[in-house]
Amino acid sequence: MNEGWNFDNSYARLPNRFFSKLLPTPVGSPELVILNRPLAVSLGLNDEALASEEGVAVLAGNQVPEGAEPLAQAYAGHQFGYFTMLGDGRAILLGEQITPQGERLDIQLKGSGRTPYSRGGDGRAALGPMLREYIISEAMHALGIPTTRSLAVVTTGETIFRETELPGAILTRVASSHLRVGTFQYAANWGTVEELRTLADYALERHFPNFETAPNRYLFLLEEVIKRQAELIAKWQLVGFVHGVMNTDNMTISGETIDYGPCAFMDTYDLATVFSSIDTQGRYAYGHQPYIGGWNLARLAESLLPLLHEEEEQAVESAEAALSAFPNLYQQHWLTGMRAKLGLYTEEEQDAALMTELLQLMQTHQADYTNTFRSLTLGQLEGMPLFCAKEFRAWHEKWQARLKRQPHAKEEVYELMRNSNPAIIPRNHRVEEALEAAVEHGDYSVMERLLHALSDPYAYSSEQNEYAQLPPPSDRPYRTFCGT
Ligand code: AMP
Ligand code: MG
Ligand code: MG
Repeated sequence: MNEGWNFDNSYARLPNRFFSKLLPTPVGSPELVILNRPLAVSLGLNDEALASEEGVAVLAGNQVPEGAEPLAQAYAGHQFGYFTMLGDGRAILLGEQITPQGERLDIQLKGSGRTPYSRGGDGRAALGPMLREYIISEAMHALGIPTTRSLAVVTTGETIFRETELPGAILTRVASSHLRVGTFQYAANWGTVEELRTLADYALERHFPNFETAPNRYLFLLEEVIKRQAELIAKWQLVGFVHGVMNTDNMTISGETIDYGPCAFMDTYDLATVFSSIDTQGRYAYGHQPYIGGWNLARLAESLLPLLHEEEEQAVESAEAALSAFPNLYQQHWLTGMRAKLGLYTEEEQDAALMTELLQLMQTHQADYTNTFRSLTLGQLEGMPLFCAKEFRAWHEKWQARLKRQPHAKEEVYELMRNSNPAIIPRNHRVEEALEAAVEHGDYSVMERLLHALSDPYAYSSEQNEYAQLPPPSDRPYRTFCGT
């Protein structure tokens, strides 16, 4: 059966420095455990063929489809502030699938064996974390947040060793590209200026094709990445998403969310929220993400300096001007999004104060972030200590008065709020429950149900109600781990 692969390999035509060509390492007995059929179809793939033995052989890295030119990408990055050489240590890019709509999308196998960039790692991935990436990346997509997608997870039939023995798995990741801030850092540090320029031209062609009209195309590249990241990070903040490992190698040029290792959604509103077990300093805390975004973009700007202007001083000046736009761009996206969450169609000077006051009340009364907005949307102000607080009542009156100062009907306000406040997010305890059933008991039904509920987060269907329930109180905070 023909799976419908239609590869082109533009990345493989870059200078050799940017990758190592190699095949995935075959695995013992691959089995498909989840396939994203709608995504497969949108890629021009035959989902039935993908689920067949030959299709699964491709998803496991045992068979290379015609037209693919597998490679591992080279990149560098600042990890928790420290610069280092990295690269795909456990991932192989099969190639770029050209979809029936003419889109070009990377097809990458994650967990596909060692590469020249593996350092001490085994090149493999465990089933739990790959399913976790599948669930959360697909939830992000449904929330309307730019992200890499998940096409499939296969188990390898092999065991991997972490602290214990774990079942091995491979995730097929789909992305607009895997170009990272770290790819530019790599080129700037180890490549020639010509190679850096080639990479920048490649990124422009691939993601910002209207660069032709820009007076300085490399400055345009920087400005466009800044715009996309400002919008992306504002979207994270608005849904309470904590990425957890915003190293420069985990920030894309395309503006898609990438690397779902230690991420998690915040329950109780708290700017200091950290889930990652290794982020002991809170560098990547929820409230710190916009700042880190700016820091990472400064690393991109530094890498691009040789292309921005012949005179270094002028290059630095242009880079600084571009970077200085970031905080304001971010703030505008956040304000727009928060207005929508509060049902505001019009703009008033004091809106920001109204928002800040609500958030401060949420923090004081340890209110659940998602459920506060869900309750405001539904007009069901019960079940949370926040709603009983005198200060909240006062805030609520101000908000109601603010709503009356716009010419929109109640139904319109409800409509906007419903489309801006998810009824469901992938709550940590529900994700864990789904993973446990799948990994420990081979029962994928819990995950399938969760995925279905997450697939339309603004539906406010009765099926979603149970997922609004909070985890039972626990004396241990939720912790996430990367690299498993
Ligand atoms: P991350 O923290 O997920 O962004 O990964 C950082 C680097 O570690 C990347 O270069 C990964 O490819 C590499 N890496 C993570 N896990 C493994 C593994 N099991 N084997 C080899 N390389 C790995
Ligand atoms: Mg990464
Ligand atoms: Mg990772």
